[in-house]
Amino acid sequence: MGIARALAFGDRVAIVDQNGEHTYGDLLGRSLRLSREICGLLRCPSGDLKEERISFLCPNDASYVVAQWASWMSGAIAVPLYRKHPVPELEYVIQDSQSALVVAAEELAGKITPSAKRLGVPVLPLPGSGGDGSSSPAATEEGPLPSCSSWKDRGAMIIYTSGTTGRPKGVLSTHENVQAVTTGLVEKWEWKKEDVILHVLPLHHVHGVINKLLCPLWVGATCVMFPEFNVHMVWKKLLSSQAPRVSVFMAVPTIYAKLMEYYDQHFTQPQVQDFVRAFCQENIRLMVSGSAALPVPVLEKWKSITGHTLLERYGMTEIGMALSNPLHGVRVPGSVGTPLPGVEVRIASETLRDGARSYTVHAQGDENSTQVTPGLEGQEGELLVKGPSVFREYWNRPKETADAFTPDGWFRTGDTAAFKDGVYWIKGRTSVDIIKNGGFKVSALEVERHLLTHPHITDVAVIGPPDAVWGQRVSAVVRLRRGEMLSVRDLKEWARDTMAPYAIPTELIVVEEIPRNQMGKVNKKELLKRFYPA
Ligand code: ATP
Ligand code: MG
Repeated sequence: MGIARALAFGDRVAIVDQNGEHTYGDLLGRSLRLSREICGLLRCPSGDLKEERISFLCPNDASYVVAQWASWMSGAIAVPLYRKHPVPELEYVIQDSQSALVVAAEELAGKITPSAKRLGVPVLPLPGSGGDGSSSPAATEEGPLPSCSSWKDRGAMIIYTSGTTGRPKGVLSTHENVQAVTTGLVEKWEWKKEDVILHVLPLHHVHGVINKLLCPLWVGATCVMFPEFNVHMVWKKLLSSQAPRVSVFMAVPTIYAKLMEYYDQHFTQPQVQDFVRAFCQENIRLMVSGSAALPVPVLEKWKSITGHTLLERYGMTEIGMALSNPLHGVRVPGSVGTPLPGVEVRIASETLRDGARSYTVHAQGDENSTQVTPGLEGQEGELLVKGPSVFREYWNRPKETADAFTPDGWFRTGDTAAFKDGVYWIKGRTSVDIIKNGGFKVSALEVERHLLTHPHITDVAVIGPPDAVWGQRVSAVVRLRRGEMLSVRDLKEWARDTMAPYAIPTELIVVEEIPRNQMGKVNKKELLKRFYPA
């Protein structure tokens, strides 16, 4: 996926990391050599590993690209590991994906070698970026790239889901799937070779892998990779006129929240604030948010600081990206826009009668238009997705794979959504975010959005503990601004005129910090267990 295109970008700079600049030619050369080493180690003289899995543990730098491309060049499935995961988590992925080999950047090899040994999987250390001393564009001339006639259906990567609702599942996407997501985004967000993206997210989820890395590599653009998110460094780079100057930025909502906290503390002078706004306006063309719902107050404040209306989009590991606000035109706060190129979506509700399932379609659309069933505009239902970006299977989980699709081949996202006013709205995960309070369905995401407009609340997660009378109650776990206090009575009073009575939380739990994973997601099942043990 994308390797043949990269050949044409030879001397252009693909990656800038802590070791310096890496051209497309450099990376191709290193990848080709690594792929030969891999095939040698796994005794594969044909050079085609036919979907063997290769796990790789790399920092956020050029070595990640080398490991990924080398896996693809040898016909294997790339399984990225996350260097900050605890060892048992890494072992789970290596074992679950039945990896034949672990490629590990030199500095991380020590972390994984004892586990790999125990699992009987060899480890191939990858010299640090530039450390092999022989990377040059000429390396690609050593021999032709291995070709694979059926590359489209060939497995490209297994990415593990975030594990927000259970044990992470290995999602196997083919090269065609990955390419469909990449080209859809390239078209919709108008990626071009002059773009420079600042990459600060982990590289074991589609957001970090496809949106922020494979898209720029597809067009010959430059990806500046930071080892990790550091609020000071991110502001510094965003506001630097030194080449390569950042033109695109993408992050999860919590990162934007952290950047704004820093802004409030450090950029207090009006001249500095004017500079920030003018610089971002002039140099950055696109700022995107995703992976979790973007609170409207975050969107509004970011706009006041930088002049950019964050482009919110919706996706998941199994489908890549599906819905996006437009690059040009109106971005509707709180909505996720319309289908990306090649993606078909449906909002439907399922009825079970005499053991037989049937679906009522509320709305169905593609990139060009959405048809609404008369009378069902705005009606909530499950979001279903079809198209070339939809994954092939959950690795080694045939039953889960079968259950994830409707009989007519639509992928069931497990998210509740609605189509209204020409755009799609995500209401939350059906399993935890749709709270059934008496006869009413309350969207936890909508309550969260509203509560975040309260002046004392800086973060919130709404959950629905079981209730003997109402089925579920609405409970808000909140983090308050330093020095502020809030009682449930105050909150009810504040919400009285602006929220439906059944959506107003009847319980309030104040915490120091809402536990979120590195993608800004809250595990609500864990939260429920913690505050409402059975
Ligand atoms: P698991 O499947 O293991 O429980 P997960 O669903 O969090 O984990 P991902 O595939 O990384 O794993 O995340 C996809 C989910 O993220 C979507 O199903 C959706 O609930 C949420 N999501 C992504 N983008 C948005 C968005 N813009 N607004 C609201 N929710 C979003
Ligand atoms: Mg999921």
